[in-house]
Amino acid sequence: MRGLTISDSQLSTFNSQLRVTFLGTGTSQGVPMLGCDCAVCRSSDPRDQRLRSSIYVQTPECSWVVDTGTDFRTQALRENIRQVDAVVFTHSHTDHIMGFDDLRRFSYARGSMPVYASAETMRDLERVFQFAFKTANPFPGYLKPEPHIINGPFKLGSTTITPLPVPHGDFFVNGYLFSRNGERLVAYMSDCSGVPNAIVDLIAEVKVLIIDALRDKPHPTHLSVAQAIEVAARIRPNETYFTHIAHELPQSAESRLPARTHIAYDGLKLNF
Ligand SMILES: [Zn+2]
Ligand SMILES: [Zn+2]
Ligand SMILES: [Zn+2]
Repeated sequence: MRGLTISDSQLSTFNSQLRVTFLGTGTSQGVPMLGCDCAVCRSSDPRDQRLRSSIYVQTPECSWVVDTGTDFRTQALRENIRQVDAVVFTHSHTDHIMGFDDLRRFSYARGSMPVYASAETMRDLERVFQFAFKTANPFPGYLKPEPHIINGPFKLGSTTITPLPVPHGDFFVNGYLFSRNGERLVAYMSDCSGVPNAIVDLIAEVKVLIIDALRDKPHPTHLSVAQAIEVAARIRPNETYFTHIAHELPQSAESRLPARTHIAYDGLKLNF
């Protein structure tokens, strides 16, 4: 991996083979949490302000978002996103889908919006956003989804995207591995309560692991910090970034994490 840089996300200055921008790194309620006066919710470190978890991925050929959470419009404005060629969903919890309709601007520019999701997630999207999926959609400015059910690895441009089914409480959701030229660059698993051995094998020694680490206290549907550290030790990536952070975990907790283990924050960019 080349050095971590923070710079304009415009394609005109784009010289990586793949760039990940953290649109959001917060748990479902975001940080600060409404009505909370805890030290993290009142923190003066701007990195302690977290919108709902999502990433924007740019490559020389095309760009896509993983999830469109409740804050998608705010995130797209902040990052000045001008191009979205597809959306890839992890699962249908509200913090990952409720910004879906704000893809209409990008959908209109392209003529349609390719949507990649598991059959189960697609069913939920079609139910919640019935107005967009129904064929007799009369207005050109409406979101026009083009559904693609994920049944295995698929390609966006020259990037191979491998679904990583992981438990998230009592059901399975998709994480994703992004590879180019046979090189496993980044694995993204924002919501998980464990990582099965088969998935560990698939992403062993990936360059960057981005993984759920909600807080220190265990939680039924998310990894705790200690569990995420354990998972990372099994995967052995070059670098690990924690995401889907709750208000119990300040950015300053990064200093007590193992080497090459970081707490991601909104707006952070990783260039490969
Ligand atoms: Zn979530
Ligand atoms: Zn709080
Ligand atoms: Zn979830």
